[in-house]
Amino acid sequence: MISAAQIGEAARVLRAGGLVVFPTETVYGLGANALDAAAVDRIYEVKGRPANSPLIVHVASVDMAGELVADWPDTAAALAREFWPGPLTLVLPKSAKVPDRVTAGLPTVAIRLPRHPVARRLIECAGLPIAAPSANPFARLSPTTAAHVREMLAGKADMILDAGPAEVGIESTVLSLAGGKAVLLRPGMVSQQEIERVTGPVTAGGEVVGGHPSPGMHERHYSPCTPLVVVAAGQAPPGRVAYLWWSRPADAARAVRMPVSAAAYGAEFYRVLHELDREGWDLIAVETLPEGPEWAGIADRLRRAAQR
Ligand code: AMP
Ligand code: MG
Repeated sequence: MISAAQIGEAARVLRAGGLVVFPTETVYGLGANALDAAAVDRIYEVKGRPANSPLIVHVASVDMAGELVADWPDTAAALAREFWPGPLTLVLPKSAKVPDRVTAGLPTVAIRLPRHPVARRLIECAGLPIAAPSANPFARLSPTTAAHVREMLAGKADMILDAGPAEVGIESTVLSLAGGKAVLLRPGMVSQQEIERVTGPVTAGGEVVGGHPSPGMHERHYSPCTPLVVVAAGQAPPGRVAYLWWSRPADAARAVRMPVSAAAYGAEFYRVLHELDREGWDLIAVETLPEGPEWAGIADRLRRAAQR
């Protein structure tokens, strides 16, 4: 449990230009005052994140989002009504208030209103928008528990708020509205189909927004250290192999049964990969996922995790 006093202290750290690791429903974030370019610089330094990889800014209200954008179109308002607070990030033309460092020089800014009560309370108490990527070193697995953060970023943040495991477990869906149409930049647990019910047709897999590439979509962004392959049901290779299955078991040195629902699978996925990384297997074999819109975000992370 996080106390009001801890949140108060974390808010002070943020206002003073410090870095706070905080829980969101997607993954743990490494946060800094989004309006303080020097504080934001420290995020890049601690993560070893390339300077061309823009950050998501977390807000506690639609009003706070409105101050960060040049314009708040009806589509954004409709999406916010439907999906905020929640794991959907919107990319829009930025206002002058947002430092270039946050957006890696792009004229657009990515914004999200998280659902996690600790994240929202922290942003409200700080009274500031919080720029926060996942709290992991660049190109490592995102953390879904505070223990993952302690392992990977030992001592590098000024404070860690530990509120237990993340509920969604994979990063937010990223949707650009910047070019006047909706472009899906990163699939997540808010599915394209759900978004299309609000916006009409969405262009999928857009890597370019309004003439600007969407950076940060590095292929190996989401990999465990252990090599990972996707295999057919029941087809775990022999050897020192850990096998993640959900429909058909196989003979494997280590078998991990994954949940059947996409929501529960997503919540477990990174935690299991962190654990298997620590155990030191030669290979992680993952049973191929079911089809369906609710699996698209997990399928995307799995494909990236399998890249070498
Ligand atoms: P992360 O915070 O590391 O989970 O990733 C941030 C994601 O948001 C990346 O996929 C970026 O490409 C995307 N993103 C952030 N800001 C922008 C922006 N201004 N334009 C397009 N994509 C962005
Ligand atoms: Mg990240």
